Amino acid sequence: MTSTPGTIARFLTLGGAHVVLTVAYDPQPNPCDHTPVYAWQCAGCTIRRRYSSHTDYADARDTANDHAGTCRSTPQPDTDH
Ligand SMILES: [Zn+2]
Repeated sequence: MTSTPGTIARFLTLGGAHVVLTVAYDPQPNPCDHTPVYAWQCAGCTIRRRYSSHTDYADARDTANDHAGTCRSTPQPDTDH
């Protein structure tokens, strides 16, 4: 299994796919002030969410976990799961 760059958490859907939570660092507006930007993608149904720099880790984690708790998608045949 390869890892998506920036992966900080994974959640398992009801169908066995992973929801992968990642973090990137937004250099805007000040390159010296790197703000964490969270995003997640479901490897089953392929839904993605990208948050603004104002969303904290707990909110991103909770929505990723909530999606995993309701999504019944199985892993896509050609994706990392
Ligand atoms: Zn899903």
